[in-house]
Amino acid sequence: MDEAIISELKALVENVEFDVPMKTKTSFRVGGPADVLAMPKDAKELGRLVRYIQEKGLPYFVLGRGTNLLVLDGGIKGVVIDIKGLNKLEVRDGGFIYSGAGVPLPKLVYFAMDNSLTGLEFASGIPGSVGGAVVMNAGAAEGEMKDVVESITLMNEGGDVKEIMRDALSFSYRDLSLPKGSIVLGAAFKLAVGEKEAIKERVHSLIQARKTKQPLDQPNAGCIFKNPPTGSAGRIIDEVGLKGLQFGGAKVSDLHANFIVNNGSATAKDILSLVDDVMEKVYEKRGIALEPEIKIVGEMENKRVRIKP
Ligand SMILES: Cc1cc2nc3c(=O)[nH]c(=O)nc-3n(C[C@H](O)[C@H](O)[C@H](O)COP(=O)(O)OP(=O)(O)OC[C@H]3O[C@@H](n4cnc5c(N)ncnc54)[C@H](O)[C@@H]3O)c2cc1C
Repeated sequence: MDEAIISELKALVENVEFDVPMKTKTSFRVGGPADVLAMPKDAKELGRLVRYIQEKGLPYFVLGRGTNLLVLDGGIKGVVIDIKGLNKLEVRDGGFIYSGAGVPLPKLVYFAMDNSLTGLEFASGIPGSVGGAVVMNAGAAEGEMKDVVESITLMNEGGDVKEIMRDALSFSYRDLSLPKGSIVLGAAFKLAVGEKEAIKERVHSLIQARKTKQPLDQPNAGCIFKNPPTGSAGRIIDEVGLKGLQFGGAKVSDLHANFIVNNGSATAKDILSLVDDVMEKVYEKRGIALEPEIKIVGEMENKRVRIKP
């Protein structure tokens, strides 16, 4: 990257690093280097950064906690913006909690519980940040973010900020439709007053259930595929007999067929090739076109992989 841009970025953002391996920033533990990793300390510093990026025409990517990401081996060109600094968390009158986008989702779940507010229990055990959860409309059988989000605070690619109320938000299955380049700064959640012990019990039993059903001892990125209209992607992959299928250091989990685990030596190319194999075999045997739920970002080191059908 241009020396002038490097020194201007250093002057703009206190916490900025260069050539950062994304494998250290993602739960899959794969991914090549980001040219720049900027961690603005607050929305003001973020705004300055976004306006600079816009002025220079640099590409940027917003990073939550990297738990739903496959970063390719060639890394990410431009600026990765890590929003951890947006960490405000507070109860507001009327059963609302406001959370900054950088707050870990598990912390929000426990914060609601400690304040005897119910509604977020469904998110127990889902890793990631609040911003990532909102953008992905993260959820489970018991509920999803769209059920509890009252409003979001959004920065556009010009650095302007506005609040958008729930009625104007279009959530869908594992997605929230937002204008290109938008950054979620935080969200307000509408919850109800509940019984603390009952909330605690629910939270703990959902976390416990995950421990028995998910391969949490190996690097992964949660469910790889969205559930097709015909049923659970995990069940379909299992029925096709793909549990244990391997490509290099990547393997379809023996415990949960919709998880791919990294045995420690996987590259993004291994994972992507395995994703491709699973899609191809499921399509061949069942005529079902699986769609990845994980976000695949960055540059390929060398071209090989196709995602089809
Ligand atoms: C073990 C495990 C279990 C999981 N279980 C579930 C589950 O039950 N349900 C579920 O829905 N998901 C699950 N996931 C997936 C993942 O945890 C969620 O999708 C989570 O919400 C992603 O948050 P993140 O901060 O890690 O986002 P990242 O992975 O960092 O980013 C995901 C996407 O959101 C964008 N993004 C992130 N933050 C912002 C922001 N502030 N503004 C704009 N864009 C942003 C990124 O650019 C990217 O496109 C699981 C993952 C793991 C590893």
